[in-house]
Amino acid sequence: MAKKVRVRFAPSPTGPLHIGGVRTALFNYLFAKKHGGDFVLRIEDTDQNRYVEGAEAYIVDALEWCGMVIDEGPNTKGSAALGGSYGPYRQSERRDLYRQYALELVEKGHAYYAFDTPERLDHHRKNHEEKGKTFIYNWHNRLKLDNSLSMLPQEVEERLASGADHVIRFLTPPDQKLQLEDSIRGSIEIDTNVLDDKVLFKSDGMPTYHLANIVDDHLMDITHVIRGEEWLPSLALHHQLYAAFGWTPPTFAHLPLIMKPTGKGKLSKRDGEKGGFPVFPLSWKESQGYREAGYFPEAVVNFLALLGWNPGTEQELFSMEELIGAFGLDRVHKGGARFDPDKTKWYNHQYLQRKKTAALLPAFQEVLSAHGVPAEKQETAFLTTVVDLIKERANFVSDFWELGHYFFVSPEAYNDKAVKKQWKPDTAEHLRKVSEVLRATEPFAPEAAERAVKEYITDNGLSFGKIMGPLRLCVVGDLKGPHLFHILSLIGKEESVARIGKAMEKLA
Ligand code: GLU
Repeated sequence: MAKKVRVRFAPSPTGPLHIGGVRTALFNYLFAKKHGGDFVLRIEDTDQNRYVEGAEAYIVDALEWCGMVIDEGPNTKGSAALGGSYGPYRQSERRDLYRQYALELVEKGHAYYAFDTPERLDHHRKNHEEKGKTFIYNWHNRLKLDNSLSMLPQEVEERLASGADHVIRFLTPPDQKLQLEDSIRGSIEIDTNVLDDKVLFKSDGMPTYHLANIVDDHLMDITHVIRGEEWLPSLALHHQLYAAFGWTPPTFAHLPLIMKPTGKGKLSKRDGEKGGFPVFPLSWKESQGYREAGYFPEAVVNFLALLGWNPGTEQELFSMEELIGAFGLDRVHKGGARFDPDKTKWYNHQYLQRKKTAALLPAFQEVLSAHGVPAEKQETAFLTTVVDLIKERANFVSDFWELGHYFFVSPEAYNDKAVKKQWKPDTAEHLRKVSEVLRATEPFAPEAAERAVKEYITDNGLSFGKIMGPLRLCVVGDLKGPHLFHILSLIGKEESVARIGKAMEKLA
């Protein structure tokens, strides 16, 4: 029987999750669910200096908002619901476990103690730089340095017994050609002579990322490691660690980077600041998140899924369920995926159009209240009609204000250009008469009002534009908006007539 698929998302809680991190989580999630497997959250917090308070909760909230259900992970929110038999899921809570694995490698001759102080290593680095060389801690230099390979066994014993600061380094074997396999990139050959002897265990008693990551993936029965391309350079070491322990490695897949909207390099926080778009799923300090910018989680999940993956068809809109059905690592791209902020808006637009109006009202009511619209003007039936008239042009619920403020407040300003073009010497006189026509219309329904105004126009031998343009200016403040008589009937007779009067005064 094939092993149950188990993947992990393994962020370090060093700050908010970048949208690229969410994409990594999503691909893991889709892959796991596609294969009926488990999606594990593991918090890689062995670097205590970079630990940021609140980051773990942020990560859990972000995954939850996107609709990714964590099968196993830390009990971040103190609920007993999460858990699983492979815990703890925070590496800091597993710290006592790693040392024995580092020692096992020392015993087997795959690792060694190194006593070099940071100052000495700095000195070597500078020395090399001055000669135009790069200092690498490997076969070039290791025998000239302070470690258990260069010292007599007794000296090593003494140093360890005296409690001297030390790290444990991986002993990279010389002259080997490693054949690395990646599901997305195929075979990669690496010459071990170019690798350095990475630190596995630090002097502070904590493992490094490399050791903890491999030990945990093994102990947690992880079958597929799906992570960002930035970890590809670590693959050679990880491959060797599995071999050194005598463990079967998982399948590896390194996802393409998410690139800036224009130019070279990967998408950064600065790109978001410059381009005015979020790079975080949820707000973090002063940076606005996708959620707070008014994106629907379905839209975010959908556009992220297509950053570096394609379904092999023209289909662009996918629910989470459809993504799970369609996803496969075979269609993940090797090359970087260009981030397109306009496309993210397009996605939100699509989801907005598909939402039931009722579902949009609570958010719209918040927008209205923020603009000082009183509760009595926020009645459900009225808002539903308004939203149905304007939503076609909106990308976000917040756009409803820009598209429909005139349903709630009388215009304070009138589009200058339009006024110059539309407002003629005889306009006011015509509008005064149109006001009377409207006042006499009963009931004040769109069709009746339209009929009456059009009658006035034809009876006086006028062109439609002559009245309709100025009338729209009075009511909306601009030449935009849906069918004018719908607007008139919605704001009501009194308000319509009042707005015409106000505009005549202001534009006289
Ligand atoms: N802790 C690493 C990170 O922050 C995990 C990399 C991996 O998935 O192996 O991205």
